[in-house]
Amino acid sequence: MLWGCGRAMSKEEYMKYKDPKQPVGVRVKDLLGRMTLEEKIGQMVQIDRIAATRDIVKDYDIGSLLSGGGSIPLPRATAADWIEMVNDFQKGSLSTRLGIPMIYGIDAVHGHNSVYNATIFPHNIGLGATRDPELLRRIGDATALEVRATGIPYVFAPCIAVCRDPRWGRCYESYSEDPKLVQEMTDIILGLQGEIPNGSRKGVPYVGGKTKVAACAKHFVGDGGTTKGINENNTLTSRHSLLSIHMPAYYDSIIKGVSTVMVSYSSWNGKKMHANRELITGFLKGTLNFKGFVISDWEGLDRLTSPPHSNYTYSVLAGVQAGIDMIMVPYNFTEFINDLTYLAKNNFISMDRIDDAVKRILLVKFNLGLFENPLADLSLVNEVGSQEHRNLAREAVRKSLVLLKNGKNASDSLLPLPKKASKILVAGSHADNLGYQCGGWTIAWQGFSGNNETTGTTLLGAISSTVDKDTEVVYLENPDSENVKSNHFDYAIVAVGEHPYTESAGDSQTLTMSDPGPDVINNVCGAVKCIVIVISGRPLVIEPYISSIDALVAAWLPGSEGQGVTDVLFGDYGFTGKLPRTWFKTVDQLPMNVGDSHYDPLFPYGFGLTTKTMVARSVSAGVGRRPFVPMVMILLSVGLYFQVKRRKLSRSQACLYQRWFSSFVLNHFQNNTIGRGRRQIQLQTL
Ligand code: BGC
Repeated sequence: MLWGCGRAMSKEEYMKYKDPKQPVGVRVKDLLGRMTLEEKIGQMVQIDRIAATRDIVKDYDIGSLLSGGGSIPLPRATAADWIEMVNDFQKGSLSTRLGIPMIYGIDAVHGHNSVYNATIFPHNIGLGATRDPELLRRIGDATALEVRATGIPYVFAPCIAVCRDPRWGRCYESYSEDPKLVQEMTDIILGLQGEIPNGSRKGVPYVGGKTKVAACAKHFVGDGGTTKGINENNTLTSRHSLLSIHMPAYYDSIIKGVSTVMVSYSSWNGKKMHANRELITGFLKGTLNFKGFVISDWEGLDRLTSPPHSNYTYSVLAGVQAGIDMIMVPYNFTEFINDLTYLAKNNFISMDRIDDAVKRILLVKFNLGLFENPLADLSLVNEVGSQEHRNLAREAVRKSLVLLKNGKNASDSLLPLPKKASKILVAGSHADNLGYQCGGWTIAWQGFSGNNETTGTTLLGAISSTVDKDTEVVYLENPDSENVKSNHFDYAIVAVGEHPYTESAGDSQTLTMSDPGPDVINNVCGAVKCIVIVISGRPLVIEPYISSIDALVAAWLPGSEGQGVTDVLFGDYGFTGKLPRTWFKTVDQLPMNVGDSHYDPLFPYGFGLTTKTMVARSVSAGVGRRPFVPMVMILLSVGLYFQVKRRKLSRSQACLYQRWFSSFVLNHFQNNTIGRGRRQIQLQTL
């Protein structure tokens, strides 16, 4: 007999796995010992919500559900609607014999992107341009909060692909062509899951509390190295380059405690990754000591054999034996369950293998606290799309912009733009389209077009609210050049790029911008000074137009916060982004990556101009109103010069004082004369 505070409990009644005071390892072992084969197999199954009901979840002991790319979107469903749906499925799980909670997963790959009114962060390529791991960690924090606020504890992110060829339709999901930069960007995992106290736990997954989610490093491995960038294709490369280019970010993710890893549809040297036991069991679980669970991709096992030679039972055998623990089998789950049961009962797959898979899944569920808190925490609901998260996304946009050209020669730089002008033209199909700004994986799998599917600010909206109130803003999607010439615009902002796409739908061997992009550039840039903003998931063919363009900015897929672009265009902040990948001249140069022997790009990896100092702009702008400001600055400089001459101050001390003082004076000056609040003053030089 065991004695609690109330009545006596028999040993059978005391379920260790339900006792949060027990160590997780003990709880996993206890629970596993109570499970039947059917219950264990159920834990290994992940089905799409479209195929699920509360009863299905209960009757088949389903371990996991998802809202996958292939799911039909839930238009304008609010956080509260999502909570209701997820909770309902969870109640199915809780009513099973052992009450094991299911884990719901979702592709929150740039914020909680399937949910109406959620904050949409820039896609990974833009985040790579920021080169700011600390920012990535904060984005991970915010995303985790928004996702958990809808009752969901698991995200299929980050994608840590090293995209080596921009013709790949998933290039924008990759932080960079450079494995080192991708490694640094895995800090987003620290935000999503929380940081492991006292450093790494050597491959043991970690999740730090109710506001965190389990992350998923994907797609293991070599997804970004396929021939000609063809999605789900073959990565033909030596073991050495697989390990040195595509593998390092997995190493980092595991050190940071990543909970799960998703297998890639692609093959390595002709062998499908979903059947690659050497890399999944041998390398990932063995050499790298990964103790979380490995999940297949959507219908990943179905694709192991192809018609007319399909043999699903063989695919299940190959995938589970390769080391896949949870199988994303969105619709066809009864066939999967029957096959795996048959394979286990006939010893094609050992109980040890099944137990290993289930142990890993349970470990993540215990880490997430799902046994104690299986249902959504309603107090988080206002986190979705909060102003704080939107400000963070805006900061990310600012830092992601890469300035590729600023003026036709060094002396006629155009940026930052004046807010005060008589009339400016905004042109191009990408200037007023939130869907284009967000790209794929937003609300729907392939993204959307227009401004109504979710909330945010388009570039046009941001321009209109940033310029001086007397500046007239004219928006023409595709103006003819006569119209532009006759209108006497001060300058034009032209937004061109790609239409949204995801996965194979985005594969392109031409990498041309969507129509009417080329026409708009030709019609506008010949007629008036023009700043071209490219809104795209990768570098596009731009060389034929470059001489007519006065200033060129890569804005990637910035997401819902268009003001991040105007913050920098109009000089409240400086340009700091650097190319996270090589910008080619012509597509026949591809693949071309930094370090290649015949490296001849239009803009090299790491390129990015900075803008003029705001010091110069603000001082000259202020001469008329506050002439004493520049005078004081000159006197200070002279004073500091003599202090250095007399060796009372070192040069670096003098520079420091000058910076402090100028920033103080300018902040004060701006607050009092322009009256638009405190701004960040850029002290960087050209
Ligand atoms: C993608 C994965 C994604 C999964 C679930 C697949 O098509 O390759 O990245 O996580 O769908 O939506």
